[in-house]
Amino acid sequence: MRVEAVLFDLFDTLLLLEKHEAYYPPSLRRLYDFLVKNGISVSFEDFKRVYFEVRDNFYSESRKSLEEPHFNLRVSQTLQRLGYNFDVSDSVIVGATMAFADEFMRYVSLDTDALDVLQKLHGKYKLGLISNFAIPECGWKLLEKFGLKRFFAVVMISGEINRRKPSAEIFEKALKALGVKASRAVFVGDMLDLDVMGPKKVGMKTVLIKRRHMEENAEVKPDKAITRLSELMVVLEDC
Ligand SMILES: [Mg+2]
Repeated sequence: MRVEAVLFDLFDTLLLLEKHEAYYPPSLRRLYDFLVKNGISVSFEDFKRVYFEVRDNFYSESRKSLEEPHFNLRVSQTLQRLGYNFDVSDSVIVGATMAFADEFMRYVSLDTDALDVLQKLHGKYKLGLISNFAIPECGWKLLEKFGLKRFFAVVMISGEINRRKPSAEIFEKALKALGVKASRAVFVGDMLDLDVMGPKKVGMKTVLIKRRHMEENAEVKPDKAITRLSELMVVLEDC
């Protein structure tokens, strides 16, 4: 059956993140420094401890619910536990999130094949993007910064719609916006659980980009596997 649409994951598919979450310590420090400048008085050690408690709660909740609360919420909850009450939309909260995001962006680079591949696919297929990310504003900034935005007819960032991969809704929503049936769409991503299992469940084809060593998983098998984005053109002909 002819493929009409190709949908992509963002991080470690089109954009590459420095390994081992290298961005985390400096980004959290920037966030903390912003809070201190805005009158929050707590040691970095205490702040970090509470932040990670709150973050890990969010992570385990969203693994179950497949919801994606905005990053602002974890900042305001962290401060609440430390005795400061701010509304999630308060400029202190929003500014702290942006301080984190500004630092995070320094650890992101464009895959060397990405522009070339998107250029070739654009016009031939409808293109979409689905990303799990709790700071959607930062996702849009990155798309702008690396010149990717123009290629996509649909962009879904989980923090914007409070649903995350692998929930069926986020894929179905994107397909509906593209006006394409699942069976005519291919999803390309680097994670078996999010980018293969999720789209497969709604009936899409899947291409796994192997960014690291992966154990074979008999239950979650992509239709195709590649190691570089440039291999995608050939593989799509055969989907
Ligand atoms: Mg990814």
